[in-house]
Amino acid sequence: MSVKKKKKIQLHKAAPVLAATAFFLTAGAFPALAGDTVYVNCDVLRCRSTAEIRDNNIVSNLYYGEKLERVGSSGEWTAVMIDGKKYYVASSYLTTEKPSAKSSSGVQTSSGTGSSQQADGAQIGLSGSYRYAEFSKINTGKAVLYKSQSQNRKNKTVCVNAGHGTSGGSSVKTLCHPDGSPKVTGGTTGAGATSAVAVSGGMTFADGTAESKVTLVMAKKLKEHLLEQGYDVLMIRETDDVQLDNIARTVIANNNADCHIALHWDSTSSDKGAFYMSVPNNSTYRAMEPVASCWQQHHKLGDALIGGLREAGVKIFSGGSMEMDLTQTSYSTIPSIDIELGDKVSDHSDATLEKLAAGLTAGVNDFFGY
Ligand SMILES: [Zn+2]
Repeated sequence: MSVKKKKKIQLHKAAPVLAATAFFLTAGAFPALAGDTVYVNCDVLRCRSTAEIRDNNIVSNLYYGEKLERVGSSGEWTAVMIDGKKYYVASSYLTTEKPSAKSSSGVQTSSGTGSSQQADGAQIGLSGSYRYAEFSKINTGKAVLYKSQSQNRKNKTVCVNAGHGTSGGSSVKTLCHPDGSPKVTGGTTGAGATSAVAVSGGMTFADGTAESKVTLVMAKKLKEHLLEQGYDVLMIRETDDVQLDNIARTVIANNNADCHIALHWDSTSSDKGAFYMSVPNNSTYRAMEPVASCWQQHHKLGDALIGGLREAGVKIFSGGSMEMDLTQTSYSTIPSIDIELGDKVSDHSDATLEKLAAGLTAGVNDFFGY
């Protein structure tokens, strides 16, 4: 004999705690503490200028194990002092006990000093805990973080992604969109496809040079310019091959950088000039997350980079952009751009790449308001 139990469906009443949270979010009502030490207890923690989740209040990234002075708390948010200024971080990622060095996650330091704070030269892989990480198929490679030694540190990390350069990348396919919907424009993979090559091989310049070789040289130049300007730089690729597909590159950037710039040259042969791949004006695509929350920031970054290039004397194609449904854009949760710096017949001499690096760096300064 058995008795079947019926599950009761409970209706939850709206939690009164919301009202209390709203109260604490007003600046004057943030309860002060005497001041004690707390530590970051997650891979990357957003440091914000106000106690709320917004795209435009992120001041910098804090990293696992980093020591902070706590001066106030509302429960959900904690006020911390950094360089004499008050900032806000999510309380749930803090601990009062110094966290031990960890090696299990995708975030690793190369220093081996016992501190897991991301140091200059830290290798950063794809952590399974990152949003959309499960869509990546090639992800054994590591990106490398470089910290600026400039006196004038910006506390911003720019992800520099040298396009292509993943051997085997064109024989593996990944989903174009995280929701499985089909591509809305053509490109390397045609419109209507739901999956695309994980990383394509790239084109070959008219003089026989592989695009991936030129994007690598370009990335290294851009890195030097950005470090000199006070930006930290997350380099996706520093050799001919990195085993990170476009989704892995994007997701690593999402979680460890403040913006993402992928460097490319286009496959036409008209020397048409530089442009960025803009988010297609397609209502379904622009309504899909994370595109919906981020596409305007992508355009802001693209416009800033084109503005910097134009001022540096670089030839610009048409209005400076072309609509393209890209895997990169479809998974980006930070300002993120694929920029095409020319095409198959464009000059890619050292002098030209220097000019491009200076223009892009001016664009980054403009984007961040410097
Ligand atoms: Zn390319």
